[in-house]
Amino acid sequence: MLDLAIEDRIDLWHRLIAHLERHAITLPIERVTPELSPETIRQSLAPFDFNRPVAPDKALDFAADGLTRWQVHTPHSRYFGLFNPATTAMGVAADALVAEFNPQLAAWSHSPFAAEVERHLIHAFGQKFGWTLPSIDGTFCSGGAEANHTALLCALTHTFSDFGEHGVRGLPAQPVFYASAEAHHSFAKATRLCGLGRGALRSVAVDDKLRMRPDALAEQIQADRAAGLAPFLVISTAGTTNAAAVDPIEAIAAIAAGEGLWHHTDAAWGGAAALSPALKPLLKGIEKANSITFDAHKWLSVPMGAGIYLTRDTEILSRTFSTVTAYMPKEAAGLDIVDPHLHSMQWSRRAIGMKVFLSLAVAGWKGYTKAIENMTAMGDYLRTKLKAHGWRVLNDTPLPVICFDHPNGPPPQEVVNRVVASGEAWISTTVLGDDQPAIRACITNYRTTRDDIDILVLSLDRARSDG
Ligand SMILES: *Cc1c(COP(=O)(O)O)cnc(C)c1O
Repeated sequence: MLDLAIEDRIDLWHRLIAHLERHAITLPIERVTPELSPETIRQSLAPFDFNRPVAPDKALDFAADGLTRWQVHTPHSRYFGLFNPATTAMGVAADALVAEFNPQLAAWSHSPFAAEVERHLIHAFGQKFGWTLPSIDGTFCSGGAEANHTALLCALTHTFSDFGEHGVRGLPAQPVFYASAEAHHSFAKATRLCGLGRGALRSVAVDDKLRMRPDALAEQIQADRAAGLAPFLVISTAGTTNAAAVDPIEAIAAIAAGEGLWHHTDAAWGGAAALSPALKPLLKGIEKANSITFDAHKWLSVPMGAGIYLTRDTEILSRTFSTVTAYMPKEAAGLDIVDPHLHSMQWSRRAIGMKVFLSLAVAGWKGYTKAIENMTAMGDYLRTKLKAHGWRVLNDTPLPVICFDHPNGPPPQEVVNRVVASGEAWISTTVLGDDQPAIRACITNYRTTRDDIDILVLSLDRARSDG
């Protein structure tokens, strides 16, 4: 039963294509948001006791129907959310191809083509961030959180020669590192995953544009050194999740260099600005970072997950992750290659790079430049339109994340609840700085048009006056 008869298999592929196309074509007229009812979903699953096999077409239809009914449709052009894109057709095709061929990205010799595709991309992205070969290395990851976790492990390995052998317990002092108060929470989680503990993350004050204050960073490092702690890493963020703030990367790089600290730039979403001549100046100084997190499953619109950890230090990933085994394949011994499992916290690994490769091969840098600049222009349009309708924009960034409220409207959460319940759009709330509640809308979708934004603003206006 694991294998299907050839005619059933062909029917299945045709049916799959019909589902994919129906999704693409009907999505614009679907509600963006689902009903949130765990009981209804659980009832629909209950008949699947796995004692009676289900026909392939019925099973596939069931799954497609469930995904249609019960999902915030992140690929919808009125999903103004958390960096989740509409996927590229080439990315979907690549993921299907990878699922069928199932290349194993632990050992290079098992999947030389897929491994070289990833190496090629890592070199290409490293160059886009201003690095030059041969000083470019990296690894594909599940996402930005894994890439940031990798950054911590590499910085620990780089700074403390004993870390690999004796771990945190062998260190002479408590290691500490620095990120802005607006940095991504994956760093807080990574402190636990690395055995450092939450206190190792020093939260650095931000300015009125929510960017890290270099003076506050320098002061905190001095205070920590004076207290006998061991600083080892500075994080700059290029495009915060909350409000798309870009830290002063160049000034942070200078402080890190002066203090002899590893400097990592978290550019999970905002790194795509490197592909636009107009936006690239925002990232000034990123070429000085020792390592970078970049997520292709955000602004590059490939299916999840496609994180990338990039570094200029071509030894550090091996030093951090390599292990000696008796059983791994040896055919590639003597070749100028790297076994991916020696450069990654993953072992058996999906060929993550293929969906990036096929998307980029077909769109080209130019295609991405256009998409990124168009989404940025849609962000400008939303900002202008909100202001014209009496809303107050609370953040200051050229990137398409708009945080706002209405001076005499109901609280942001009430407005957002009404918009989301309407099914017309998905937006969210956040808190800027210590205590400024805001509505947050991000243009994450290359298909979003002015019409979509007009509908969002109508929906917001209605949600405000309905109070
Ligand atoms: C999304 C994001 C992350 C986490 O990435 P995942 O791909 O969700 O794991 C980290 N940092 C920033 C700035 C992000 O926007």
